[in-house]
Amino acid sequence: MTRESAEELGEDDGGSVVYDLDADCTADDVEQDTPYLAEINGVVDYGVFVDLSESVSGLVHESVLEGTYRVGDELVVELEAVRDNGDIAFEPVDTDEYELESVSHDYSLTGTNRLEANVGEQIHLEGTVIQVKQTGGPTIFHVADEYGVVPCAAFEEAGVRAYPSIEIDDVIRVTGTPEYREGSVQIEVDGLSTLEGEDAEEARERIEEALDTRAEPHEVDPLIDWPAFEKLRPNLREVAKLLRRTVLEGRPIRVRHHADGDGMCAAVPVQIALERFIADVHEDADAPRHLIKRLPAKAPFYEMEDATRDLNFALEDREKHGQQLPLLLMLDNGSTAEDVPAYETLAHYDIPIAVVDHHHPDPEAVEHLLDAHVNPYLHDEDYRITTGMCCVELARMIYPDITDELRHIPAVAGLSDRSKADAMDDYLELAAEEGYDETRLQDVSEALDYAAFWLRYNSGDQLIQDLLQIDNGDDERHRELVSFFADRGREEVDEQLEAAMPHVEHEDLDNGAHLYRIDVENYAHRFTYPAPGKTTGEIHDRKIEETGDPVITVGYGPDFAVLRSDGVRLDIPQMVSELEEEVPGGGVSGGGHLVVGSIKFVKGKREEVIDALVEKMEDAEIDEALSSAAPIDD
Ligand code: MN
Repeated sequence: MTRESAEELGEDDGGSVVYDLDADCTADDVEQDTPYLAEINGVVDYGVFVDLSESVSGLVHESVLEGTYRVGDELVVELEAVRDNGDIAFEPVDTDEYELESVSHDYSLTGTNRLEANVGEQIHLEGTVIQVKQTGGPTIFHVADEYGVVPCAAFEEAGVRAYPSIEIDDVIRVTGTPEYREGSVQIEVDGLSTLEGEDAEEARERIEEALDTRAEPHEVDPLIDWPAFEKLRPNLREVAKLLRRTVLEGRPIRVRHHADGDGMCAAVPVQIALERFIADVHEDADAPRHLIKRLPAKAPFYEMEDATRDLNFALEDREKHGQQLPLLLMLDNGSTAEDVPAYETLAHYDIPIAVVDHHHPDPEAVEHLLDAHVNPYLHDEDYRITTGMCCVELARMIYPDITDELRHIPAVAGLSDRSKADAMDDYLELAAEEGYDETRLQDVSEALDYAAFWLRYNSGDQLIQDLLQIDNGDDERHRELVSFFADRGREEVDEQLEAAMPHVEHEDLDNGAHLYRIDVENYAHRFTYPAPGKTTGEIHDRKIEETGDPVITVGYGPDFAVLRSDGVRLDIPQMVSELEEEVPGGGVSGGGHLVVGSIKFVKGKREEVIDALVEKMEDAEIDEALSSAAPIDD
């Protein structure tokens, strides 16, 4: 409450002062032994009801009143008592002449954007609780307001939860002092209370409006002029807004991405853009590390193993660190029916899911489980718009300052997935301007593949960032590192193929396609680079070079087969569902792209499944238009 003291004002003119509360004043603004102007709003047998402001009302008891009163009359009163139930009693003050002095509700709040300027001084702050972490010392409430998020440390007793009634999503008022703690600003709490009723609603609305505006993605000019891509932009904007909003709300983000070149070109830029935005939003310098995790997925879909682990980590983080459950961001993965069991697992919890993918989608199977979905097939485009290309734009919408570090990435993504998009020329040119010729880009792609293989389930954050040369200055070092990895990878591919090629079996199919088969279990090294999928792909590429289209290559192990085809109109997801029926007890499952995919079956039924598979391939139409248009990832 702000007002000059009555004494001071009284001295000036010799008369008395009566205070007039502004409409938004609350009971907190009413002080004892102070006269206020009130208006009568009701007359009853036992007294009159008076209003001092919109929310401050009370009763003046008949026993202390003299004369008659009508609704609308003014009356000068002062506080008599506040009852336990919050009811207020006033009594009249005898005044003839007085001067009115208005009182404004001046609970001035300091936003999280002005904390550094107020270090060491007590401030008030209103916001939403987004995380409650109990440490061995104080309880840390992470509070989000319109401007950002700040940790507020409240101390009860070492390791004892302070303000136990306050929970995540409560709107609270914090009174405390901003202080530096390990380089970050934190508020040392003096008092903390939950806002109730209208106050809470108002604060919630104010914060909601501000966050909604702040979540708006940035408008960025496309890196290249590509009309087909622009069809995806509105959907990408939705994902960008969802992700920015998620950061502002302090919800953690878990990124799952296909562990190949395109997948990493997609996931790493988005990860870095989000980390930088998190750093802007959160006072806590450790927030980027705690709030975003990127993990590769070996399969081209979200496996139950990954989903249950992710869920388990999320629940542990909630338990241990008082975090909200995360948002799951699936990149270069996640559009197909094979993802459904994993999504359904997560659907039991509050875990929003967003997908950016370019694998042939099953929208009817997944859409209802997703909060946002970007896929070129949903706009009559195809895999040639790779996920890496999409996600570079997505990263720029989240954090535009990252643009200069990403100009070469779409070209790497396109080469990794062998995109035959017309726009590849533009992307290659864009990369060339940054000093990346096609050989160097190809090296980056191979190096990513090689590193991903050895990293296995590890995200390899710094190494992958170094290979992608994002946020990294030393050009010479990058060239050396990348060509070392790429050369190592190529040597190991050569070794693998030297052993395998003599064991490739050839067959001419009735439809005119060449069929090549290789037993990758017995005639290739196991558990070494390249994995069966890539081994099959490399054999396939060499056979196309040798013979020309159409070519189908099958690499099989005891209980799986990897398929690659060029110039043949296959529909692998369709073939898989037919085989499920035609080979009872075959345990057939799988899928992937239309012409590149993998199939699983039970060991004892291998002959039968592969024979049935070959029969289907023989029936497939030859399609010159498809020639060399197959996506590469496996
Ligand atoms: Mn891809």
